[in-house]
Amino acid sequence: MNVADSERLESALGQMGLSPKSSPQEADVIVLNSCVVRQSAEDKVIGMVTHLKPLKQENPDKVVALMGCMVGPKTDALEQRYPYVDVFLRPQQYQPLLDLVGERMGIDPEGCIGPLVATPDVATYIPIIHGCDKFCTFCIIPYRRGREVSRPIEDIVREAELLANRGVKEVTLLGQNVDSYGHDLPGAPDLGDLLAGVNAVDKLQRVRFLTSHPNDMSEHIIDSVAALDKVCEHINLPFQAGDDIVLDIMRRGYTNDDYRRKIEQIRKGIPNVSLATDVIVGFCGETDAQFQETLKLLQDIRFDKVHAAAYSTREGTIAARNMVDDVPHDEKQARLKALEALQEQIATGINAKLLGQEMDVLIEGRKRGRWFGRNRNDKLVFIENVDVDTEMSGKMVQVSINKTSPWSLQGSIAAAVLAVGD
Ligand code: SF4
Repeated sequence: MNVADSERLESALGQMGLSPKSSPQEADVIVLNSCVVRQSAEDKVIGMVTHLKPLKQENPDKVVALMGCMVGPKTDALEQRYPYVDVFLRPQQYQPLLDLVGERMGIDPEGCIGPLVATPDVATYIPIIHGCDKFCTFCIIPYRRGREVSRPIEDIVREAELLANRGVKEVTLLGQNVDSYGHDLPGAPDLGDLLAGVNAVDKLQRVRFLTSHPNDMSEHIIDSVAALDKVCEHINLPFQAGDDIVLDIMRRGYTNDDYRRKIEQIRKGIPNVSLATDVIVGFCGETDAQFQETLKLLQDIRFDKVHAAAYSTREGTIAARNMVDDVPHDEKQARLKALEALQEQIATGINAKLLGQEMDVLIEGRKRGRWFGRNRNDKLVFIENVDVDTEMSGKMVQVSINKTSPWSLQGSIAAAVLAVGD
């Protein structure tokens, strides 16, 4: 979400005539876009803001802005703590900064900025719903990003068209819980309706969405993913914990069984779907036996990818107020390690089956001297038989897989199936 917000602000500043610089020393405007989902992230932001103080003192004309989740509805405390910061911006609220930069440049930002869209790239994000109504006990998001607010379908489709006209081939529709998209809009359209709208955008080749919630992933959404040709067969459905008591304390609103049934429904509805999930280990009170339920779920479902984190208390959450973070640090790390070892084994097996297969890969860029892209299932694929200097960005190619690992695939191009820009 923050990457998407930063791209949109970059687009606005770009339209005002500013261009990116490689260091804060060179820049006239410095924006820190803060994430506070974990305490360590917030600590990092604090370190960086503090670091900017001497730079601002030496160059008082530099504009320093602090944006994102660290900025709540009231900024008095932040203003007192960081008086050298020129402007504080809540997530997606770019206007005060644009006004300030416009004032310094002697221009009216209203007059020069078109619709805020991300900077052109092969694959990019479009935020579709802001905030979250769920209030899981470990999570700070609803407090910092507020309640759910969906953007109208027409706005999102228009943005997708603009992006596609600028060369973007793939968009990921983004939200804390995209499956609840639309309930607050007139006529209550859902994510399936939105996917159909974006799928119809001419020059776009792929559509993805992130992140889902097991309780809101409806049959209509599943059917839409299966029926719409550009919507990729990949779903990230966090389960967070395998034990029912832990799930209840987390206030996730489903049981282990409910989750398994939802996965069955998805696999039945979308053949060849790949699955990712998010897991927290060592949540307040989690016993070893309860953690084993998490491992068992992993083992039974066999996800393609797992994002796992050890629980840490986040001030301001229900868990921080009412629960004790009582699983020792070493135990959390041991659980994380056990989970990662199991997942490595599972992903090795899943990816090994792709050896010798041919698949469509949208090339996104170069990494460590090789071109890379993703297949429809969101697997990272490195291309080995194309010179790194041959421009491949944005091309859809068919790749024959000749090497696999738990984290990525490698292959060579069999034939160019689509020439980009024709
Ligand atoms: S659904 Fe996700 S974003 Fe919303 S409160 Fe729960 S963990 Fe946080």
